[in-house]
Amino acid sequence: MTLAPNVFRDVVSQPEAVTELLRELNKETSVHHAWLFTGPPGSGRSELATAFAAALVCSEGGCGKCNACQMVRVGNHPDVQVLNTERIQISIDEVSEFIDKSMQMPALAKYRIMIVEDADRMQERTSNLLLKSLEEPPKGTIWMLCAPSEADLLPTIRSRVRRIQLKVPSVEAVAQLLVDKYEVPQGLALQSAAQAQSHVGMARRLATNATARDRRRQALLAVLSILDIPSALAASDSLVKLGESDGAALTAELDEQERNELLTRLGITAESKLSPSSRSQIKKLEEAQKRRATRSKRDGLDRILVDLMGLYRDVLTVQLGSGESLINIDLASEIAALAKDISQSQAIHAIEEIQKVRDRMDRNVRDIVLFDALAVALRRKAKR
Ligand SMILES: [Zn+2]
Repeated sequence: MTLAPNVFRDVVSQPEAVTELLRELNKETSVHHAWLFTGPPGSGRSELATAFAAALVCSEGGCGKCNACQMVRVGNHPDVQVLNTERIQISIDEVSEFIDKSMQMPALAKYRIMIVEDADRMQERTSNLLLKSLEEPPKGTIWMLCAPSEADLLPTIRSRVRRIQLKVPSVEAVAQLLVDKYEVPQGLALQSAAQAQSHVGMARRLATNATARDRRRQALLAVLSILDIPSALAASDSLVKLGESDGAALTAELDEQERNELLTRLGITAESKLSPSSRSQIKKLEEAQKRRATRSKRDGLDRILVDLMGLYRDVLTVQLGSGESLINIDLASEIAALAKDISQSQAIHAIEEIQKVRDRMDRNVRDIVLFDALAVALRRKAKR
């Protein structure tokens, strides 16, 4: 087999998926026109789609260094279009505008690539609109959809795409990436990878950002401190504050990173004057960032809920004595104490209650109301 091009190097622990894409890139006939990348959040499905796109538009098959590869990486290649919504659902207007773009000829490369992140966020009517384009795209247009699983899409869509399935990378593989690429000490790398439950982006953030790590710990400690109703309400209040500030902080980090990447790519230093085209690109980025800000609070709260589910999963692990490693090894003694205080069915019930809040957050109920009810349900009642 040919050596994997550089653009695939950062895709963690997905050898089967990468091999299949390489086979496609190396074959004689033209590249298949519609793809579906499935995998849980953080497994790197959109990163893999982006790497595949770079391999298709780079004249050297994905060198990772040339202008084309860099433009794909920062999301500015004219022939690689990405639809990523900040909303709960992708609107029919967004999709129809995106389809219009798919009809245009490639500007620089041989292919025009249309990536739909979160393709599971389309309603049936919207999916049907996309169907025709997936079936017979203009020559050179390649669709890449990303979704958690195949089941999240309509069967009619599923039957028209070639599927690439990503696996959840192991905690060890994610930790190794943090050590190799970000020079994180081994112990912290393993702890962060476990806490992020192998979500690559989250693991990197926990490993490299002490404030984010501390917020996460504060949230778990708040829940561990719940005994009665007053302490439950106090905990709920801290959870909402921590979630919101973490959401805002993450957005600010991303905003700055994207801005710096764009400025570097445009060759702009602090002293240089902005050309009209640079100015318009910066404005476009700022608008996209503003749209994202509206979702960041929700995302911060959702991350806390995921962490809390991990906490109760740890409690169950201790109660069952399965010997599986804990997600929150740094809180092992607190978790052991909670595992003694509540029954297995209470731990399972807690996980269900947290999941319920995650589902309801999308439905315009005030967050504090949901979190208050959750915190009260998580009181350490006497074992039943
Ligand atoms: Zn290249």
